[in-house]
Amino acid sequence: MKSSRIPGFYKMAVEERRELLQNMEWISDDETEYLFSKEPLQVETADKMIENVIGTFPLPLGLGLNFLINEKEYVVPMAIEEPSVVASASHIAKIVRDAGGFSTEATERDMIGQIQVVGCSDYRAAKQVLLDAKETLIKEANAAYPSIVARGGGAKDIDVRILNEEADSLYNQMLVFHLYINTCDAMGANIINTMAESLAPTIEELTGGKVYLRILSNYADRCLAKARCVIPPKLLATGDFTGEEVRDGVIHAYEFAASDPYRAVTHNKGIMNGIDPVVIATGNDWRAVEAGAHAYAVRHGQYSSMTTWKADENGNLVGELELPMSIGTVGGAIRVHPISQMAHKLLDIHSAQELSQVIVAVGLAQNLGALKALVTDGIQKGHMALHSRSVAIAAGATGEMIDIIAERLRDEKEIRVGKAKELVEEYKK
Ligand code: NDP
Repeated sequence: MKSSRIPGFYKMAVEERRELLQNMEWISDDETEYLFSKEPLQVETADKMIENVIGTFPLPLGLGLNFLINEKEYVVPMAIEEPSVVASASHIAKIVRDAGGFSTEATERDMIGQIQVVGCSDYRAAKQVLLDAKETLIKEANAAYPSIVARGGGAKDIDVRILNEEADSLYNQMLVFHLYINTCDAMGANIINTMAESLAPTIEELTGGKVYLRILSNYADRCLAKARCVIPPKLLATGDFTGEEVRDGVIHAYEFAASDPYRAVTHNKGIMNGIDPVVIATGNDWRAVEAGAHAYAVRHGQYSSMTTWKADENGNLVGELELPMSIGTVGGAIRVHPISQMAHKLLDIHSAQELSQVIVAVGLAQNLGALKALVTDGIQKGHMALHSRSVAIAAGATGEMIDIIAERLRDEKEIRVGKAKELVEEYKK
């Protein structure tokens, strides 16, 4: 049985790690070849993906380890340039694993298509006409994309709102029609936009207004995923800090983020540190996930923490993260980018719902990793130690020099490029 617990993985050479994945039969010979190749995403493919292509932009790809989610083992591919993120996620995943693992759930994957209608002579009457035509409109939308209906998805429901009803400017008043569409395993931009565009003429006819925008909403608040962990304090003890101290520090840190947008933005950035790398590695649209996540963080009126942390009646630390997850396991770049295909295989996920749950579990782990460091040693100790190699490279170190300079920087507790340059010069002499 696959285990995401691979002791010593971080100490292995890159080639040894790849060999291990291959020996475990988690990736095939072809996929290993891609990983070793100098150009995993060929420029000819890239040229078909976007416009004006001049090359590709590689990122480090690491594996988040130790993840146990709903009793299933996951190794989590993470594409990110920032040091310490993968280590921190794996560290917390190990703690949570010892506490029984993450439990996660997801709603139906109902995405939203929006149609904007202006210039109605009577907005209330127009709204009622659309509500009365619900069944016809749903049928017409589904006729525009029958294959998603055949997959068990499709348009299911509608909603209509009047915006700025009291405004005196004609530009402000408008009707907004929502079409709720189950996009199955696709993020669904094309399904949603096709359906929204197809309904526009009928909506104009019914309302007597003019349709302008017809597009999905990235505020996917009917396509949610939620992760939860319950950690006994003894598993949180670190250095001179007791588990209870760490637990209380994490809860205080959460309350700070819950009450102060200045802190919440940084707190949430730390959550997205875990989420974005998985979204990127799996070929998904991270701008869509970012936009939806931050909008969800302000749903109660003030921008706030995406996570919650509290103590339960037994003194355990309980963390939760719920976010919109407009991702897919098909579509977009997912089946085009060879590394993304490999990432899906490594994750061994079978639906977009499952992927969305893994992503929020990683976000929750990442948040605890940052908070645990912040309320104990401070973020710099662990982060800068791991950052030291990047600093050495930035100062011109190459080959074996990188680790030697990085170690000196750590020993001398001066992890900065100026110091690294001095050491590089010294080394060269
Ligand atoms: P695609 O249109 O590439 O893929 C979705 C299609 O895959 C479906 O329509 C369906 O087509 C097919 N499919 C195969 N298996 C399944 C399954 N199990 N469940 C569902 N569909 C399946 O991608 P998306 O529409 O998802 O679009 C994603 C892309 O859109 C992203 O790259 C994003 O960047 C981009 N985008 C984002 C916008 C935004 O966020 N605002 C706006 C516009 C684009 P069929 O049934 O015909 O086989």
